[in-house]
Amino acid sequence: MDRTLFTNVTVLDCTGAAPYAGEVLVEGNRIKQVGKAGKALAKQGARIVDGGGATLMPGLIEAHGHISFCDTPTLEGLGDIPPEEHTLKTMKYAKVMLDHGFTAIFSAAAAKPRLDVVIRNAIEEGEIPGPRLRAASPELTVTGGLGDVRRAHIYRETFAICCDGPDEFRKTAREMCREGVDTLKINPSGDEFIPFARAHQTVMNDAEVAAVCEVGKSRGKMIAAHCRSAESVKMALRHGVDVLYHCTLSDAEALDMLEAHKDRVFVAPAMGIMYATAVGEGAGYGIDKNHAVALYFKRELDMCIQNMKKLKKRGVRILPGGDYGFAWTPIGTNARDIEHFIKLLGYEPMEAVMAATKLGGEIMQMGHELGQIKPGYLADILLVDGNPLSDVAMLRDKKRLLAIMKDGSFHKEPQKASKAARAAAE
Ligand SMILES: [Zn+2]
Repeated sequence: MDRTLFTNVTVLDCTGAAPYAGEVLVEGNRIKQVGKAGKALAKQGARIVDGGGATLMPGLIEAHGHISFCDTPTLEGLGDIPPEEHTLKTMKYAKVMLDHGFTAIFSAAAAKPRLDVVIRNAIEEGEIPGPRLRAASPELTVTGGLGDVRRAHIYRETFAICCDGPDEFRKTAREMCREGVDTLKINPSGDEFIPFARAHQTVMNDAEVAAVCEVGKSRGKMIAAHCRSAESVKMALRHGVDVLYHCTLSDAEALDMLEAHKDRVFVAPAMGIMYATAVGEGAGYGIDKNHAVALYFKRELDMCIQNMKKLKKRGVRILPGGDYGFAWTPIGTNARDIEHFIKLLGYEPMEAVMAATKLGGEIMQMGHELGQIKPGYLADILLVDGNPLSDVAMLRDKKRLLAIMKDGSFHKEPQKASKAARAAAE
């Protein structure tokens, strides 16, 4: 079995322990041993990687992935991409994520029914490079909901699947299970980009949400939901949704319900897109900071910040993942959400990094073997040039990622640490 021994590294193991000088031995695709406080590990037969003082940490995990959204400036544009081109683009973006240190992705929807599924399978078969991927269905939405870009007078493809009534939702959910998704995605609430289904509006009904949850639960799938409005959060929780995105407009009752389900559910507020839109980064695409949607998102971001602070105090698991995949939140910049957790939500850097690693392992349903540096865990490992806890922005800079290992193999071969990192380690 292949053995790799990382020496001369500062281990940020993401168990909650302070970083320590140590060595880490990888055997096959798993971490075999972690040596602390100068304890040298057996070098026999191992490839030695001298980290030169770099930080060794778990690979990053994206909780709201959209690798088939192709950095689109408009939602309508996604339906115009033919399936063949779309598959190739999604393959490209899977590699982009891994190049940026994301070794696992919990998908928050594919833009066509089989995109996530075929890319996940090809990655697992070793045919193409990419992160571990929990494949999602497209967004199941109602006529006139988020994702329905159709027009009455002309045929147009969309990135969602429009269903009306529990029977249509049930049938579509079953079809998606047949095609091999891991997660069913639904859109119970609207979104401010959508003039006919605003963020505060709840557009699916109980019977529709229940139908998708019934199918998902019976087949061991997870259910993820786009829930901006308070009522959509409650509806999702009533029927057993596992992953609640946004939850930004939660009221007191919704917060209480989230707390009551905290051992089961995950919340990912997706601050990236709200922040980027609010500060005017969409200006090149027709949404500057004075645009009505930008002004609205500034207010929703404020509500999001208040609510996430409350949920964190109550022990709800909150994960970064900010709807990267749009033109002004391009794929690969996903680690910016970790920074938002620190700057906007008041997280300690350690807590924010653990939300993107340890909690990431949990949302992947692999908390017992993914997201931490521990013996027996899967060897998804980054070597970082510097200490991410002193400046988490370095995780957004792929030049600072000196090595990227996934499942025990190097996706990026180890590079030399900078002089500064070496000096800091001496
Ligand atoms: Zn999304």
